[in-house]
Amino acid sequence: MASPRTRGITLKSAKELELMSRAGWVVAQAKERLREAVAPGVTTGELDRIAAEEIARLGATSSFKGYTGVGAPPFPGTICASVNEEIVHGIPGDRVLLEGDIVSLDVGAIVCGFHGDSAFTCAVGSVSEDRQRLIDATREALRLGIAEARVGARIGDISAAVESHAIHLGYSVVRQYVGHGIGRQMHEEPQIPNYGVAGRGPLLREGMTIAIEPMLNVGTWETTQLDDGWTVVTADGNVSAHFEDTIAITSNGARILTSLDDLSQRS
Ligand code: MG
Ligand code: MG
Repeated sequence: MASPRTRGITLKSAKELELMSRAGWVVAQAKERLREAVAPGVTTGELDRIAAEEIARLGATSSFKGYTGVGAPPFPGTICASVNEEIVHGIPGDRVLLEGDIVSLDVGAIVCGFHGDSAFTCAVGSVSEDRQRLIDATREALRLGIAEARVGARIGDISAAVESHAIHLGYSVVRQYVGHGIGRQMHEEPQIPNYGVAGRGPLLREGMTIAIEPMLNVGTWETTQLDDGWTVVTADGNVSAHFEDTIAITSNGARILTSLDDLSQRS
């Protein structure tokens, strides 16, 4: 039987949540391998191989490899690796990470037909205080967004929490790319913008699974896409950071599925 739907939003059963939790756990493991591997001199292609091996070792498949966007060629990587002014969808390859860079790594995995999707930005070696502050602000924006995600709240509560934190610290939020529902598809309804008005938008219900993913820029919020069909960069060349978790709305609040702290995996 199909899952119940409300206006295109899929509510997951307990069994489906369990499978999403497994996909999220694979993503969390792959993120750990990446975190350990990031260092000056490493290429984004090497990071891609590390994530691919970990996802395969855990019996899952990549959500991203071969993914086709609107008018874009199939995505060639297992992960997205976006350096400095690259916001999202960077194609891993020969680029060598340098001391002082920041790199955003986005990982998606499928287990039994269900997706997990998560991203983080980290420093390569030691970085400037400005860059570290951007990373910390973006991680905190995600935390604040997740804190709003509970039964009876609205998508706009998440959006407003992310945006107000960013603006307060002097950053802009990317508007052209947004968070999303997730489940049997990587991208489902509803969209989760990183800007908006509290109290507006779709109601959050028990069993909804969503990916919240703030992208904060030092300069303009405007973006440009490179002619590789994928890589999104800031229009002014200033740096950007990106954090993302897949969460489930439960009667006890948000459960983060793409974190190693997800207790359901620790039996
Ligand atoms: Mg992602
Ligand atoms: Mg996503």
